[in-house]
Amino acid sequence: MSNNNNALTLGAPLSGPVLALGNVPDEVFASGAMGDGLAIDPLNDSLYAPCDGEIIHVARTGHALTLRAQNGAELLMHVGIDTVELNGEGFALLVKNGAQVSKGQALMQFDLDRIARQCKSLVSLIILTNSERFELTPLPLRSVKHGEPLARVALRSGAALQTAVDNSVAQASANVRITHRGGLHARPAALIRKTAQAFSSQTQLHFAGKSAACDSLIGLMGLGIGEGDEVCVTCRGKDCAAALQALVAALSVAIGEEPHTPMAAAPRRANTEVGVLQGVCAAPGLVCGPLFRLSTIELPADTGNHCADEQLQRLDAALEQVRGEIRTTLDLARQRRNAEEEDIFAAHLALLEDPALLDTATRAIEHGSAAPHAWRDAIQAQCAVLLGLGKPLLAERSNDLRDLQQRVLRVLLGEAWHVELPAGAIVSAHELTPSDLLQLSAQHAAGLCMAEGGATSHVAILARGKGLPCVVALGAEVLDVPQGQRVVLDAANGRLELAPSAARHAEVERIRDTQNLRRQEQQTQARLPANTRDGMTIEVAANVASSAEAQVAFENGADGIGLLRTEFLFVDRRTAPDEQEQRQAYQAVLDAMGDKSVIIRTIDVGGDKQLDYLPLPVEANPVLGLRGIRLAQVRPDVLDQQLRALLQVSPLARCRILLPMVSEVDELLQIRQRLDELCVELQLTQRPELGVMIEVPAAALMAEQLARHADFLSIGTNDLSQYTLAMDRDHAGLAARVDALHPALLRLIAQTCAGAAKHGRWVGVCGALASDPLATPVLIGLGVSELSVSPPQIGEIKDRVRHLDAAQCRQLSLGLLDLSSAKAVRQACQHHWPLS
Ligand code: PEP
Ligand code: MG
Repeated sequence: MSNNNNALTLGAPLSGPVLALGNVPDEVFASGAMGDGLAIDPLNDSLYAPCDGEIIHVARTGHALTLRAQNGAELLMHVGIDTVELNGEGFALLVKNGAQVSKGQALMQFDLDRIARQCKSLVSLIILTNSERFELTPLPLRSVKHGEPLARVALRSGAALQTAVDNSVAQASANVRITHRGGLHARPAALIRKTAQAFSSQTQLHFAGKSAACDSLIGLMGLGIGEGDEVCVTCRGKDCAAALQALVAALSVAIGEEPHTPMAAAPRRANTEVGVLQGVCAAPGLVCGPLFRLSTIELPADTGNHCADEQLQRLDAALEQVRGEIRTTLDLARQRRNAEEEDIFAAHLALLEDPALLDTATRAIEHGSAAPHAWRDAIQAQCAVLLGLGKPLLAERSNDLRDLQQRVLRVLLGEAWHVELPAGAIVSAHELTPSDLLQLSAQHAAGLCMAEGGATSHVAILARGKGLPCVVALGAEVLDVPQGQRVVLDAANGRLELAPSAARHAEVERIRDTQNLRRQEQQTQARLPANTRDGMTIEVAANVASSAEAQVAFENGADGIGLLRTEFLFVDRRTAPDEQEQRQAYQAVLDAMGDKSVIIRTIDVGGDKQLDYLPLPVEANPVLGLRGIRLAQVRPDVLDQQLRALLQVSPLARCRILLPMVSEVDELLQIRQRLDELCVELQLTQRPELGVMIEVPAAALMAEQLARHADFLSIGTNDLSQYTLAMDRDHAGLAARVDALHPALLRLIAQTCAGAAKHGRWVGVCGALASDPLATPVLIGLGVSELSVSPPQIGEIKDRVRHLDAAQCRQLSLGLLDLSSAKAVRQACQHHWPLS
């Protein structure tokens, strides 16, 4: 019965002893990650409605359902623990999703004996899943009969207005299958959280009878959702339709755990060789050096007697400082366009703001703990949840939590992260964290080895990105190796050699020196032109996304910028950059490049890359929608402004404009005409060169017609592969097959070059294939004369060009068009032009 507008008394849905949530034999429920609540150990076999309301979710396997009371409180009733495993056997639902029910109405019958025999526990949960807005106060009862008063649910102070509004608004829900590799671990969960936060609607995920608010990373991870699992998303609020669509899209995007890394699945092998510890490769490489042991912070025992307010303030200040540090790391990662680093630390930031974590720590402080102990215990409790899910990938995310534990403790205890690393040290630790890794890499550690950890952890991903050899899961023995002992880390084979002979040392040093020498030689030659042995000049330019990257490219010897992705100026902000800001940004890139030319691509957003300030129609099939140059159809003003900004850079002769996603000649002609009009308006006599990206099969097939009107063509092999092979370029499961060396693509590249040649136009490649040294001879052979590569690879690709004979490349490349697969092409390339 409602006592006033907001508060209500719940009747017991079951009969039996009443338990506090903390005594429930399930870490996720017990931790409160799902919300406030209580439990009953049932003696009867029916579940009754605790109040009037609507059934808003029914578990597919019938063992749990969620009821929304008339005041907006949402109550999950979950019969037994791990009962999802019964797969519906033993449960008979008496109501359907959407049913209006009255207090005391029977909702479900269940087979008490069967659950008792086959499941972990009969203990059943009543959880308030929107605990952020409501609070549940259990009545002091030891046991209860169904229908008797059990608990009170009331709005938290300050939430009343929101309820009144929310009750009158719409809701939407959908089922979706999770395609994220490894399930909903930290980074995909952070993506879901970020997506949800863009909307005012309340959003939740429901899985296996449990629910979590989309704004709680820990709640989401605690659902234990695996790859391929089907989940239900519910959104409630004014913008529920848009929120649902965005969340379904975010849940369907596959964020992978680096499908290209075969070592990710490698199990640890036993130590069978004397003097060698065997672990799992997380990042390959062969190094030798002194071992340096890194230890973690140990907290002294808590003395008690703290002022809760003071401790809360201490914790808040420490959290804010760490958030600030992480934001700085994020800014740097963004500037360098290091997406992996950005994703990982964005997830850390989200974890630091997680209501479940903060509530647990706050509660501990209110119960007398010191801030450091409360923080450590809150983290440990969440680690236990993740470790208890039985999913390795989620278990590895506890390392991210421990990272935050260490960082916040360091601030609380006033201990800076500081070690004096001996030159070329190989660092050993129980388990390193992502922020340790950034520090160690900045201090030039030669390699990393850990007692614990996994090859799919974030540290492993970062180590691979930084080329830092790393072996995980070496076992506790690695911690006994004396400080300073010289070791060899053969990371590719997961080996730590504890007592290498002098000869072995010399061998490792020789291999390392040869590789370094080669890299150095390539580097010293990098600023010289890249001519093939028979005298053909190939321009090796760089792909960049900012003036800072252009600077690096210039220093690395780039012959120009082959692709400036201008999206960097438009994303992650609330308003569009104006003409002046754009002009300055483009000018800065030109200025960074000396007298070299810069190809600037017009904005390629739309489709899946949406901008807050540029609302575009919702797409059923975003990559086939209004993206690239097609944006001009719906927002000609945006392109117009960008063209104006581009026309004002100086000297204009060094600026070339490139149009993305062109699929027919008219698109090019319209932009050319608009450019002419703008030049007249701006009283310019000179026209910048205008090129077309060949990244849609239609453009490749029409290359000759396009080349008649374009000054140059640049092949975007990333999208060209996606559209030619009909395989999503971001699909983790298809990653190995989206290979631009597929004969179908080679045919399109050949046709593009032939079409361009008829009109005397040059062809470049700016997709990722240009950075693949195995592909260099094929591209040259098919007629490409410019390769736009990632800045660190300029020296390597120029070196590759210098060892090739263009005439021989032409002769051998044609034969590749007749091969049967990308794999066959790769094998043939390796045969004709081996990579040493
Ligand atoms: C491409 O598609 O190959 C390309 C270079 O463009 P982007 O990767 O920015 O889509
Ligand atoms: Mg593209």
